[in-house]
Amino acid sequence: MNANAESTVPFVDLVGQFHRYEDELMTAIRGVLESASFIGGAPVKDFEAAWAAYCGTKNAVGCGNGTDAIYLALRALGVGPGDEVITAVNTFIATSEAITMTGAKPVFVDVDDATALIDATKIEAAITERTKAIIPVHLYGQLVDMEPVLAIAKAHGLKVVEDTAQAHGAIDHGKRAGTFGDAATFSFYPGKNLGAYGDGGAVITDDDALAEHIRKIANHGRSTKFGHEIEGVNSRLDGLQAAILGVKVKHLDTWIDERRAAAQRYDKLLSELGDAIVLPHVRHATSHVFHLYVCRVQDRDGLRKHLGERNIQSGIHYPVPLHLLPAYSHLGQGEGTFPVAEKMAKEIVSLPISPEITEEQQVRVAKAVAEFVGANR
Ligand SMILES: *Cc1c(COP(=O)(O)O)cnc(C)c1O
Repeated sequence: MNANAESTVPFVDLVGQFHRYEDELMTAIRGVLESASFIGGAPVKDFEAAWAAYCGTKNAVGCGNGTDAIYLALRALGVGPGDEVITAVNTFIATSEAITMTGAKPVFVDVDDATALIDATKIEAAITERTKAIIPVHLYGQLVDMEPVLAIAKAHGLKVVEDTAQAHGAIDHGKRAGTFGDAATFSFYPGKNLGAYGDGGAVITDDDALAEHIRKIANHGRSTKFGHEIEGVNSRLDGLQAAILGVKVKHLDTWIDERRAAAQRYDKLLSELGDAIVLPHVRHATSHVFHLYVCRVQDRDGLRKHLGERNIQSGIHYPVPLHLLPAYSHLGQGEGTFPVAEKMAKEIVSLPISPEITEEQQVRVAKAVAEFVGANR
């Protein structure tokens, strides 16, 4: 059989997941349409309660998306013009965009070569008298080791907002992702580990007053219908998305197990290739929920082309470290500023992973990778 005639191994399979839970999802969607609870109402309240309970925190506030969630958390914590906020240079641009949205300036820090997460040993050098907060990003689904980050924040009086857009449900020291800092933010973008059927986001916090403040900013600065105490924004989780998330959250732990099993299968299949490919570094068993399965290879672009020719999708997260993007040229940080992230960006490749991926698909991926790295050794 011609390899090209084989079916696609999709990067994620959102349609497959819909069909797996079709009856439950359609019932929830119908319920929203029949009660016209499109903005606010029971579906949002119920999901916020379910999400707070799942994470093990006192408050969850739904909002429009994961970018707004970071903006809302920072703004409610008092971050604004003239301030600086520290984050990792290898993350999705949403993290730094949200910092800029508050009027503050993003300050980047290089990442750890093994985990690709913010290098805590480099945070202190980035702190100035303007620094107000640190945003550790739990990238790829793996929790940043929060102990050193929290110690630095405490020593310098800084707020900590965890960007948990990729790590729903990961656990460290018996606590879920997002329960370590002052607040944590989630994205429910469709492709995230807990995804809506459109945009959605949330902020979680144990601080009741902070949660109230976030809720107010997200809803036109009001706590009563026309009692606008401040100027806010319009960033709400809508009823349909909340109802869909309410169904899906019940299955999140199953999906986490399935993602971990898939990651272990790749580990086993790919470890036979020795040091031709560097597999994901996992801090410990529950620290990673494998939003992405990111490997490192010398000829990354060649490998991706080889996979593409065999109908295997792959990705790069992220191809350009933030400081080298045109959007941040004004910061004047050229090549060589963050050497670990820069080298990593040239070598990383994200292989397909999702709760729905089959063993057969993974064997196909591993065979294709083996063919390529074997031929290039
Ligand atoms: C997806 C993502 C966001 C932004 O979420 P949206 O819902 O798309 O706005 C923020 N940070 C990280 C690390 C992400 O992966």
